[in-house]
Amino acid sequence: MDFTLKTYKRLIQTFMDKGYKCLTYESYCVNKEEFDISLGKFVILRHDVDEFAGNALKMAEIEHSLGVRSTYYFRVVKQSNRPEIIREIVKLGHEIGYHYEDLAFAKGNLEHARKTFEENLTYFRTFYPVKTVCMHGSSISEFDNRSFWKNYNLSDFGLVGEPYVTTDFIKVFYLTDTGLAWDARKFRVWDNVMNTFNISYHSSNEVIKAIKQGSFPEKCLMLAHTLWSDNLLQWSLLHMREFLRNNLKYMAQRNKILNRIYTKMVITYWGLPKK
Ligand SMILES: [Zn+2]
Repeated sequence: MDFTLKTYKRLIQTFMDKGYKCLTYESYCVNKEEFDISLGKFVILRHDVDEFAGNALKMAEIEHSLGVRSTYYFRVVKQSNRPEIIREIVKLGHEIGYHYEDLAFAKGNLEHARKTFEENLTYFRTFYPVKTVCMHGSSISEFDNRSFWKNYNLSDFGLVGEPYVTTDFIKVFYLTDTGLAWDARKFRVWDNVMNTFNISYHSSNEVIKAIKQGSFPEKCLMLAHTLWSDNLLQWSLLHMREFLRNNLKYMAQRNKILNRIYTKMVITYWGLPKK
């Protein structure tokens, strides 16, 4: 079974055993130049808490037990924005950021997006002095939330980093578990960056093996969502759901009727305003 909390622990432990420094996204940004040119190995640990905030807390506890810190990006939707969990994760010493999707919510209206972005950032700053934010790829939206930064600067909001904007992906390998696989590229809508490494891994065991053998890149930004679970029932349901969702999402991009069905399902699930 892949994508369990046990596997996650093994993965982080392997990074540590092989001399990788585990970084939060903010700590990478603050010393970016030094990290990008140095010969030292590192892995930035980033979590997008799209949903299942309870699982985020479990991952945070595992990291804490291993003595590492990571960054958790929270959305404003109810499946993610759970104040009691955010507080617990902060208490464990981790970093919190805002997983924004304001441009998609505002249907491309920049001024409106700026207003809600600021309000939501202020809200998350009541838990933690947030310095980095990360876009949520809204699979049903035609708007790329990142294009917000064509009009505004991170410093306008007292921010120092956005993984998609301020990471040098020529030097830093991007590893993401979107779609519950490390190589589900065709199912990603927005979660893509320029990949110059020309390597891919399917399972966590493949990643672990590569780290152990020394063939894994020395600088990495790893995105792990919160679908990792040791609960057999939850694990089975999530894997089944992701399989169906991935395929529906893929087909919906090519078929108008399926697109309408998929959009309706997404709006209902997240409780988003109707289009
Ligand atoms: Zn997301």
